[in-house]
Formats: sequence, C-alpha cells, structure tokens
Amino acid sequence: MEDGVNNGYDPMIPGAIVQEEEDLNLVENSNVMEEVQEMEQANYNEIKSPYRPLIGVSGRYDRIVRHFKMRKPFYYKERMHLDVDGLYPLKKASGTIKSLLMHSHWIASLKRVNWDTWAGPIEDVYDYGRGKFPYTYIRIQTVAHVMRRSGYANVTFTNKNGMKRAIRLKFGSKMMREVEFEFDHQNGTTPELTIDPTAHPLHPEGLRSEELTVKKVFERAGFRVKVSSDVNAIPSTVAGNNFKWSNNELHDAMQTYWSRFANVPQWALWTFIGQQHEMGHSLGGIMFDSIGPNHRQGTAIFHDSFISNLPQNDPNANEWVKRMRFWTTVHEMGHAFNLAHSWQKELGNPWHPSVVNEPDALSFMNYPYYHSGGPNTFFSNFEYRFSNQELFFMRHAPERHVQQGNDNWFDNHGFEWAEPATNANLTLEMRTHRKRNEFAFMEPVVLELKLKNTSTIPQVVDKHCLEELDDLVMIVKKQGKPAMQVKPFTHECYDHEQVVIEPGRSLFGSINVSFGPDKWYVDEPGYYDIHCCMRMEEQDVLANAVKIRITPPRSYDENYMAQDIITADVARVLHFNGSRVMTSANDVLHETMTKLKSAPISKHAAHALLVPMSKNYQLLDHQGKDAPVNLSTAASAGFVFKQEKAQPKEAARIINNYVFASKEFPVKKNTEAFIDAKGHIDAKQQISIYSRVLAQADNKEEALAILHQLKELFVERSVLKTVIKDIDSEIKQITNLKM
Ligand SMILES: [Zn+2]
Repeated sequence: MEDGVNNGYDPMIPGAIVQEEEDLNLVENSNVMEEVQEMEQANYNEIKSPYRPLIGVSGRYDRIVRHFKMRKPFYYKERMHLDVDGLYPLKKASGTIKSLLMHSHWIASLKRVNWDTWAGPIEDVYDYGRGKFPYTYIRIQTVAHVMRRSGYANVTFTNKNGMKRAIRLKFGSKMMREVEFEFDHQNGTTPELTIDPTAHPLHPEGLRSEELTVKKVFERAGFRVKVSSDVNAIPSTVAGNNFKWSNNELHDAMQTYWSRFANVPQWALWTFIGQQHEMGHSLGGIMFDSIGPNHRQGTAIFHDSFISNLPQNDPNANEWVKRMRFWTTVHEMGHAFNLAHSWQKELGNPWHPSVVNEPDALSFMNYPYYHSGGPNTFFSNFEYRFSNQELFFMRHAPERHVQQGNDNWFDNHGFEWAEPATNANLTLEMRTHRKRNEFAFMEPVVLELKLKNTSTIPQVVDKHCLEELDDLVMIVKKQGKPAMQVKPFTHECYDHEQVVIEPGRSLFGSINVSFGPDKWYVDEPGYYDIHCCMRMEEQDVLANAVKIRITPPRSYDENYMAQDIITADVARVLHFNGSRVMTSANDVLHETMTKLKSAPISKHAAHALLVPMSKNYQLLDHQGKDAPVNLSTAASAGFVFKQEKAQPKEAARIINNYVFASKEFPVKKNTEAFIDAKGHIDAKQQISIYSRVLAQADNKEEALAILHQLKELFVERSVLKTVIKDIDSEIKQITNLKM
C-alpha cells in the first residue's frame, strides 16, 4: 500500500471496498462519551508542559487509499494541516476529505492537552459533496521523527452522539500548500524581489538583517514555493501605442507569456512588473485578473508610479522606494491568494465569522498610509509578514477560496492602490434610506451619499461631485458574479461650480446604481455589494460598502414583464425622467404602471410618464423626412418644431391613481411610505414636482397638503433646516398662485 501506515489502528481496511459512510460513522465502543467529555474538558484546560516534541510537527499530513477492487480504482484522499509550532503558529488544524461521496473541509481550534497532543472543537465544516462530515471534536497525537517523512499523527474524531473515528495520517511536508510563481517584466524594468528588511533605518528594533525574498515571505505563510525559471522580458509595445497597460492588455500578456497559463484553477500565479498602468502615476499595482472565467491568476506592479516617489528629506530615500516596490509586489500577490485589504475584511461575505477589519494591521495587506500612525509608524513596526487572520485564511480556508483561478475575486480593483492622502479631510458615507437594505425586484436602487468635512478648515468641492459619475466611481457586484462599474448616461457638462463645505458640515447627493446606458446592473433577485469611491485631485475618498438584497418577484406578471422592462431603452427613460419620443419604452412603462400597481417599479414608471406631461415641450417634427445632419440646418431642411402642450390634468390623475395610490389621498401614511421608498433627497425633488403639477391641475389643496406632510415628516426626522426652508418657500409660492 502506498499509505504504508495502516497497521490495524485504522478501522478502514485498506484494499477492501467499504462504504465510506460506515467508515465515517463507525461507533467503536461505549466509552466514547467519556472521551468526548474529556475532550470538552481539555478544551478549557490547556496544559503547560515543559516538554514538547523536539522536531516541529506543524505541516501537512496525508492519507491516500486506493480501492482496487472497484471496477475502476478510485481514490480516497485525506489531508490535514496542523498549525501548532514553527513560525507564527495559530493553534489550528484543518482538513479535507475527498472521496466518492464525501467532499468536506473542517477547521478546529486546538489546545495542548499533553506534551505531544493537541485537541479541541471542530468549529467549521464545509460540505461540498453528498455526505455530511459528522464530527465535532478532534484529538491529534503527533509522533515526530528525525526522518521527517517518517513522522505521523494519530487522529481521533468524535461527536456528542458517541461517534468515533480513528485514523493515522502520515507527515507529508512542513509546508501546508504548494504554489508556483512566475515573475515577468517589461523590457527595461527591474523587479524588486529581494530586500534587506533593515536597509531603511525605519524598521522594528530587533528585526534581523537578511536577504528576504518574495518567495520567503510566502514560505513563512506556509507555502512550498517554486519560482519558475521562465523569465520573460515583455516588449513595451504589448501595452499598445501609449505604452501604458490596460487590464485587458495585461490579461493578453499573461496568456501569451506565462508558461503555466490555463483557464483552470491551479496553484500558480503570474506576476508582472511594468512601467505604468493607463490609470496613471497614482496606480502602484493591480490584481488585474477579474476577466474571464478564472480570476486572480495574474497581478501587476508599476514602477513608474507613486510608489517610486522619493520621500522628501529622507537620506535613505532610495531604500524607501525599494521597500515600497517590494511591499507592493507582495501586496498584489496577496490579492491573488484572495486576501482583502486589512480595512476591508468585512466587505462582501467574509469567509469566516472570525473575520474582522484590521485597520491598523502591520501586514502586507494594509496600506502604510492608512495606518492610524501614518507610514512612519507602520514601517517602524512592520515585520514583513501577513496578519494572523490572513495566515489563518491562507493555511486553513477551503482550497477553493485561496487557490488562484478558483473562487472569483470578491472585490473591485478600480480602487486598488489609489494614492491615499496623508490627511483625509473628507469622509464619504453611503446608505439606503431603509432599515433593512432591501429593494423589490426591478425597483431602482438609489443610494444616498453624504460627504462630510471632518477637518477644521472649510473644504472646497465641485458642486456636482456627488451626482456626476466621472469622479464618482460606483461599483455593483452581485454575489458570485464579476463586479461592474456603473456607467454615466452622459458625461454631463456641468460648469465646474465650486461649493464650500464648512467644518462639520456635509454635502448630500443621491445616485441610482440599478442601470446605466448599456444595461441593468441590478437585474435579478439576490445579494449585491455596492462600493463607492470619489476621486479628487489630491485624494480619493472611499465610502463604506453597502450590501443590498433584491427580493424575488412577487407575481407571475412581474416575472413575465421583466424582459420588457429590463432593457436599455426603459433604463434611459427612467433615468431622464421621461421622454416624449421613445414611444415603445413609454408603452412598456404604461403597462408597468397599470398592471404592476402594487410593485414599487410601478411608481417609478408613473413618475417617468407624468414628468414630461407637466410642462410644454419643443419637439422636432421630422415629418417623415430623414434626420438633418445637424440641428442648425433643421429649419432649412424643412423641419418644424412642434410644441407639445403640458397636460397637468392627466399628470395629476397619474399622481393620484398611481404614485399615491390610495382612495383616502392625501394621507400622511402614504407620504411616509413614499419618502421611505425614495429616500429623502429624491422624495423631496419629486414631491416638489408633484405639488406643482397638482396646483396646475387646479388641485391646490392637495398640492399644499402633500407639501405640509413632507415638511412635517422631515421636521420629525430632523432633516436639514435649509431643506425645510425650501419646502416653506414652495408652500408660499403655491399659496400665492393665482388660479
Ligand atoms: Zn490592494
């Protein structure tokens, strides 16, 4: 037998065909319960023995059993990662069992219960196969050997129902996982893959001078690292005429030059060191590979970027730059192992409940600039390592989460290595106006943004900075799908009017992330993560991420009509608050409004239909002729402008029947529901429009009632005084309106 250690201790008979469930559910004897109790006890009492195995026992343990008597031989694979000594021990064990029926991964927390024995509860189980992993406690007795490969571990699994399973696993390697790196570079660029951690005087006291390599950093994290002897110098022309790299060009280069490239998950990573990304000097590195079916296989570092900026007044400026380049290289490679930034660990769906944000982590995954003490404090304490939480992930998470090309990258990379400011004067807060961030199917998702001046001096910003999608980057990411950036409908030509935000004050805005000019980003039920970043001249301001849930369609009609509604045309009309020319989209909206009356999308449809009716329109009448080359020649080409008159009565009817669809209108409850559905900012804008429409349609009383209700609710909710004043002046205008 290949295994060679099956000496009767293992209840599974090698070479025989056995039912795996039997093996895993084996009830051995009646004293199991005592053992379980003993283990529970052990979980609370750790012994402090002066003895411990002379030889390190951490590492990978394997068991491979072949069943030859089946028609086709099949494998039963089992491995365990033991993590109790060596560098950065975490007192954890994890394991994977793969067989015909079972594919499970477990993770246990350990305490030392004897000089050579560790035990503890199995806290996490991931079942990917049909079988369920039934055990809740583990006890691991290690037998180390001077010939490392002759070492083994006696492992006992038990659970409270009295089930017990005892196996022996053979020591495989002191490294838990294996990975291969290939480093390619742009012609003329020298990768920074080796560093003396003490070369720059700003380093932790007691840090050893050594030749530290990128390879070593990952070996210390628990990987056997092979560095590919293939080293390619890639011509700059691969980056196109501008010599700057786009993510697509990087992906193409990876496919062309990486000897290991394959669109399958494998423990291999391509690292490219180039000059500059097309995003410019402010991008130091990027894990660009979220293209195609397999993510996280390639990463890139750019030397012609701010990471090469020489710090001022630093006599060791060159050493600083060398360190930044080395640091960035490991940081980007960390992303390829699916590690998030230290301050963003809780984004998306953390893989494990223990995951927390670590904004002050002294880790490769933290930005030195984001450390609360600034980069100098960071580097004075940084020991060229990953945090324990990151090591836990790399050593013990299920393989699919960590392995390159396997699970998709959860995060957006548009924000990657945006040059952070040393003093952030502004904070950006993003929220929905709902207790639970839930939206109905097809209901446009509107997020409110609050830009606050957290400094002590007034800040000048662009008046439209929270509305324009040029400087504001919004990312929508459905669970399990690639992230998408919300595109602007137009690059709006606002004059760049500036406003001043006084200290402690805020600027507010709202933005719809459901659709753009090309498509709907939020087009099906499920969970979505929304990320937002505002690019400013001197600094980027990153908002908190928001997770939203889209509830499933509530009726057959909703489901059926979705294919007509979820189109670029309808998105356009909804975005521009109506159109008088896109008649087919208007037909869809009319049907949506009338047929899906109870669905929130119906109110948005009503809004888009009634707004154009509220005012006179100039429409170019083509009179069946071809469109003119440009508008100035329209008249000479025989085209006429036709005026479409406002239809306030019809608009008012839509408001009463569909927007506030209630017979008792106007009632406060309706307005409140409306505000909650739309959020304060949009609700205020729309109610202003509705009150004017109602007044034009001779419903002055209703117009005033709705404004009064809005005011009352806003006062109750302590909305800004300037907004209340605004409502007051609208009330005054309508009161003075002559009918
Ligand atoms: Zn990063």
